[in-house]
Amino acid sequence: MTNGQRSGVVERLVVHPGDAAGLHERDPASRLGLADKTEARDVLVGLQQELDVLHNRLWAEARRSVVLVLQGMDAAGKDGTIRRVLTGLNPQGCSVTNFKVPTEVALSHDYLWRIHNALPARGILGVFNRSHYEDVVAARVLDLIDDAWCKRRFRHIREFERMLTEEGVFMVKVFLHISNEEQRQRLQERIDDPEKNWKFRHADLEVRARWDEYQRRYEAAITATSSKWAPWFVVPGDHKWVRDVAVTEILLGVFSWLDPQIPEPEAGLEGVVVE
Ligand code: AMP
Ligand code: MG
Repeated sequence: MTNGQRSGVVERLVVHPGDAAGLHERDPASRLGLADKTEARDVLVGLQQELDVLHNRLWAEARRSVVLVLQGMDAAGKDGTIRRVLTGLNPQGCSVTNFKVPTEVALSHDYLWRIHNALPARGILGVFNRSHYEDVVAARVLDLIDDAWCKRRFRHIREFERMLTEEGVFMVKVFLHISNEEQRQRLQERIDDPEKNWKFRHADLEVRARWDEYQRRYEAAITATSSKWAPWFVVPGDHKWVRDVAVTEILLGVFSWLDPQIPEPEAGLEGVVVE
């Protein structure tokens, strides 16, 4: 199955500019037409091979870059997505940045400073594990900013992302959409499985207790910042195998559209013999 055949899927996940994100109406357990894990694995392998070719061309072209922004609640699968989707790509053409609670240095600058600083150089696929969207979601839930301030930030972000696109940095934003029950199970597993204990912090439960508020803030942020130059995609995340295929399909769609080109060879190569 090629990207072309499943392109309707990506179309279902995008949040069209001006439309509400509609998180409530989107099913986190959707399978997006995939029968089971086995089929998903086969589809994923094919997609990754296509992505690898285009990713290598992006690297060779060295004129533009792509940023995959991953947002979602705790245990939504941001780390797993990075591991699964980037597997098989040339590491030299990738960068991954984790955005935690801002450091003192970061806080001594505007909120986009650390974001801008982490953007991938030309030719690179950069992945953001959390991003500037924390500054309009977590920061708003925690009352670090009020509604008017948040609205101004939506405007900055739209314009920042527009500037980046016009300068050759293409942002693809993915919200990993899981259900409240799926998060409960995954967090419980982090407590019960010693191998996963390191991922759990007590504070995760305080964030979970404010689930509805986070969903509302995500709804507002996604709705306000999905643009034709930097669209949001809402990916069903309850099934990891569906999520991996969906995110890879989205990336492949963007890479196909960018259609990176291998640079022209130096003049005078014909007839040159390597001794
Ligand atoms: P984790 O990704 O599990 O390591 O957790 C990182 C935590 O940092 C999450 O609770 C985020 O919401 C929080 N965080 C990241 N960036 C910001 C920010 N700009 N403002 C407030 N909280 C943030
Ligand atoms: Mg965590």
